[in-house]
Amino acid sequence: MAAISLSSPVSVLYGIGPSAADHLAKLEINTVYDLITFLPWRYNDWTTVGRVSTCEGGNEASLYLTVLTTPSVNIRSRAKPLSFMAGDDTGRIKLMFFNSPYLANKFAVGDRCFVHGELTYFAGTPQMVNPYIEKADKVSSSELVRPVYHLTAGITSRQLSRWIKTALDLCGNELKCCIPDEVMKRENFVPMHEAYRRVHFPETLDDASAARRQIAFEELILLGVGMKLYNRGTSVKEVAEQVVPESGSELAKDVAVRWKKIVEGLGFTLTGDQRKAIIDIQKDMMTTVPMNRLVQGDVGSGKTAVAILAMAMTALMGKQSVMLAPTSVLARQHYDNACRILNGSGINVVLLLGKTKASVKKEIKEKLKDGEASVIIGTHALLTDDIDFADLALVIADEQHRFGVKQREKLLIKKDLESGVNSVHNLVMTATPIPRTLAMVLYGDMKTSVIREKPAGRQAITTWFAASKESTDTRDALISMLESGQQAYIVCARIDENEDELSDDSIIGNEGSDEKEITSVIQMKQKLDESGISARFPSAVLYGSMNEQTKLDTMEKFLSGEIKILISTTVIEVGVDNPRANIMIIMDADRFGLSTLHQLRGRIGRGKEKSYCILVSESKSELALTRMRLMCESQDGFELAQKDLEIRGPGDFFGTRQHGIPTLRAANLYTDLPIASEACDAVNALLEKGGSEAETLERNIEEMFELRFGSKMGVL
Ligand code: ADP
Ligand code: MG
Repeated sequence: MAAISLSSPVSVLYGIGPSAADHLAKLEINTVYDLITFLPWRYNDWTTVGRVSTCEGGNEASLYLTVLTTPSVNIRSRAKPLSFMAGDDTGRIKLMFFNSPYLANKFAVGDRCFVHGELTYFAGTPQMVNPYIEKADKVSSSELVRPVYHLTAGITSRQLSRWIKTALDLCGNELKCCIPDEVMKRENFVPMHEAYRRVHFPETLDDASAARRQIAFEELILLGVGMKLYNRGTSVKEVAEQVVPESGSELAKDVAVRWKKIVEGLGFTLTGDQRKAIIDIQKDMMTTVPMNRLVQGDVGSGKTAVAILAMAMTALMGKQSVMLAPTSVLARQHYDNACRILNGSGINVVLLLGKTKASVKKEIKEKLKDGEASVIIGTHALLTDDIDFADLALVIADEQHRFGVKQREKLLIKKDLESGVNSVHNLVMTATPIPRTLAMVLYGDMKTSVIREKPAGRQAITTWFAASKESTDTRDALISMLESGQQAYIVCARIDENEDELSDDSIIGNEGSDEKEITSVIQMKQKLDESGISARFPSAVLYGSMNEQTKLDTMEKFLSGEIKILISTTVIEVGVDNPRANIMIIMDADRFGLSTLHQLRGRIGRGKEKSYCILVSESKSELALTRMRLMCESQDGFELAQKDLEIRGPGDFFGTRQHGIPTLRAANLYTDLPIASEACDAVNALLEKGGSEAETLERNIEEMFELRFGSKMGVL
């Protein structure tokens, strides 16, 4: 028989047949390693032992008892239960067991036993039905803290415990340590196999939680450092040529003049943070190492200008850049912006969308191949189409969280194939308030520029909550804004009676309003038409599944002011920018998560005008009302994210699924963040320093990363 190792399939273990292996696969347990790292989600603590007299009916209790009567089976009853009396010096109870005739041979009068179960009263007699029972001298303390696993049908916690024990006995020693010696000592950590033993078979709850903390530590190191090592193969350090010409050269002078003109043509003065972000980018691009930078700024902070200037900078150096937008509406808007800003600069801008006609596409591709076009803006089409670039130097992903890591990787890997080296600078724009530490774990060694400062002259958005859809205040506010020449958004949670158009993360279960009561885009349009509002202020609908051209046309008319009211789904959540739209009404606001509400609201308050956001919801749900209140109180994305963590627990604001990161077993990306950054910093510092410990550690991390995430890298 081949030796059993951590990477062996679980079916090699004694007791795991094909059907058990299938059940385990449902829990994503495929290898022996998966089995060992499948952690309990909680423990039953049986360590507090009581006395019969102090037990209350309906409560669970652990008792040490003496057997008082001979166990006997009641043969008159159909279920043939076995029962006997047992007690301590404070009282006696009846113990009753179904389907356990063997107990008759195991226990005799006078034996000491340990039981745990629920105490009930039957005809005035205290009893326990089917309690856990064991001879008192056989009960070790480790059995009294009992792990509870998340299971699927067909597997019990007991079976799982047994298999895990076998796995640990056979392969525990293969679990390599990925934590630096110094940290191990400081934190009083134990060898990895011992940590796993303690988390599965703890003697006390404290032991279990200390072991879990150690495992979380290790897991975050694997993710943060391992990902970086894993990606090392694909990122080659040298950029073929420097992007920026030597200062003082003729070329540099020409570039400086053109650059100045572009910046002056923006139509506004950059904020300090925007300027700083651009300088960060410029510095990164001047080094020989490919840039890997995240520009993070709340909605409306002006990330687009930063992106376009970065592209302009690249173009002035004679190189190409790509900006990837999550929707065609947004790509179009960026394109229009870029054209306006770069107008007269001699930089050629092109737009490539999925629906772009084949003949036009062909033409664009020619321009990209011969280098005629240097600023390329588009959607996923840029990823799926086969494109040859003359000299691609920069890739920008806007609203990165919408793309998932997989797509981002694809773009970067694509470049590898083309040029043979990864010399492409990578810039990511996001409004998601990712704490630096989380960003580091998610994106490895990505650097961050934060835009906190809002453009000057912005007024706070006044937000209020309307508890009724018929509220005349809402209507009055809308009309008066429209009359003053402003434009409006009305956001609905569905398109028509049948169709939802919520992005995965924005959907909020059924805690809110009744499905039927949800106002749809179509209903809202009808209402505006029937009430005569549309006649005075032209309205139009917008949703994701609409024909692409109609969508773009509608958006254009809204931007030009021809359409005054845009009734839409959450498609407008991302990026849409119309500074003249200053009122937003969100129908059935309880249907949206805080992050979505915040993103939506970010569409208004983009000019100097006063703006209003009205959250309409007839929901009585406490949680929904709390969200509304938070929205009314705060406009700061970071703060809202924090609050969201507090009210809903981790994970919801960011929607980890969107980041494409694999599920973690021990660590919690949010609460364990301080651990993550500290752990990864310690390891990175050590690896950089080199030496024999570093070498071992690096090897261990690579080996464990492969076991932990290796097979899942495909879905990253
Ligand atoms: P986001 O960060 O959400 O992508 P945008 O880039 O869409 O924000 O910018 C929001 C609005 O602010 C746009 O109308 C843009 O023209 C404007 N803007 C950006 N930077 C400035 C600035 N420094 N001063 C004034 N307005 C600005
Ligand atoms: Mg944007």
